[in-house]
Amino acid sequence: MLLHITERPAARVINPDGRANIVLVCEHAARFIPKALNNLGLDTAAQSSHAAWDIGALELAQAMSVALDAPLVAGRVSRLVYDCNRPPESPDAVPVQSESISVPGNVGLSAEDRAARVAEVYRPFEALLAGTVAVARRKAADGPPPAIVTVHSFTPVYFGKPRSTELGLLHDADDQMALDMLHAAAGRTALKTELNAPYSAKDGVTHTLKVHATAFGLPNVMIEVRNDLLADAAGIAQIALDLSAMVGAALATQPAAASH
Ligand SMILES: [Zn+2]
Repeated sequence: MLLHITERPAARVINPDGRANIVLVCEHAARFIPKALNNLGLDTAAQSSHAAWDIGALELAQAMSVALDAPLVAGRVSRLVYDCNRPPESPDAVPVQSESISVPGNVGLSAEDRAARVAEVYRPFEALLAGTVAVARRKAADGPPPAIVTVHSFTPVYFGKPRSTELGLLHDADDQMALDMLHAAAGRTALKTELNAPYSAKDGVTHTLKVHATAFGLPNVMIEVRNDLLADAAGIAQIALDLSAMVGAALATQPAAASH
């Protein structure tokens, strides 16, 4: 058993009764490593670095959950244990290397150990998110379908190279909501906002969108905020309000009744 009973569940829903026609998702919300994994052989700096989680993303997503009154599905286990935004067949799902950090506890993993990561971290997260989306779709009935909005943060310096993007809006096959949010950014945020930066779907980062949104024709977007902007409560609060206004504006442009 990977996760001790006291370490479960691997995911949770915050504000489950939120009334917005939106489901927020924060896959990389936590840096928690189950005790059985002996910190994956990482030093304390690596355990708290951006490799282990999206720094500030949970606080941002929680503030958006309040501002929008939307349910939020958040992971409770480090992405170095299992990256819930990757399918089980992806080598990145259980990374042996993240930027300059190598992860000794993930090297030479047996098939059983890897299966346990999938079964105890990914499947519970996936099931909780699928259930939350199903409830949102039922609540939406014949009105506009619920939107899926995933919330992430990224490191300001990657492999020694500073990143100038402050806010990234990423899409998978359906670019509508990302484009609508990009248009809504003008006048609603001072952040340097770019489409598909600092990554894009080509980098394999849109797994959650594919499985939980595109598959059902739901509007969706992946939000990436540079984590140095999330270093204090005031910054988080401001960005949460900016993003919530942009999400609201983007959804207001949706047709009144789409098929879903
Ligand atoms: Zn992330």
